[in-house]
Amino acid sequence: MQREHVVIDLTHPLVPNGVPACLGHPSYNAELTFKLADGDFANVHTLTLGSHTGTHIDAPYHFFLDGCTVDNLDLRLLAAAPAVVVDLRLKKAHEPIRWEDLEKHAHRMRRGVAVLLCTGWSRRFGQQGYSDHPFLELEAARRILDAGVRVIGADTLSPDEFTEEGDTGQVHRLVLGSGGVIVENLNNLGQVLDKGWEDVRVSVLPLRLSGVDGSPVRAVVWNERPVAATSIND
Ligand SMILES: [Zn+2]
Repeated sequence: MQREHVVIDLTHPLVPNGVPACLGHPSYNAELTFKLADGDFANVHTLTLGSHTGTHIDAPYHFFLDGCTVDNLDLRLLAAAPAVVVDLRLKKAHEPIRWEDLEKHAHRMRRGVAVLLCTGWSRRFGQQGYSDHPFLELEAARRILDAGVRVIGADTLSPDEFTEEGDTGQVHRLVLGSGGVIVENLNNLGQVLDKGWEDVRVSVLPLRLSGVDGSPVRAVVWNERPVAATSIND
């Protein structure tokens, strides 16, 4: 039996003036420096972005001076990792995500697995209220880490709560302090749940930026499915 990969893009598009960022972070822009339309040899863009632009990964160095930088992350955890996608779409603004919400997936959590939190908040990307997302309770994050997981992703600006003062940073400190990474601003996780996929793999690969604390990623999830043979010789 032949098999094919069905891929879902978990990445938000990067569009100038269309990418929400934490206060003070660089805003995204892409501008043609050389233009075919002007008779130049080729099109070449100049990019302006931050290490936390759009769908991206936080490395331990984001919060810890002696933490691992994005170029030195263990790619075995980020390329083709089995993923557990948790349905949290009933959570409301600023509602905590507790271990009880995650517990039924505990038997699938172990080292090498990525836990991806689907709150449905990605639909508000770039809109008002995007930072009013549900947040991961510290104790729940601790339990995920205790299971051996080192990759935690969310379809929100942060796994931490955003208050008037900004990101509380608690879950960041715990996860990054345990040598783990956080993936933020994921997109389309609801599609994975709607398809009923359980055995999925995810790749969240950062650019190899030397000494840098984070990087935009192209995040994809896929599963394999059997394809009906097209001829009796297949
Ligand atoms: Zn970040």
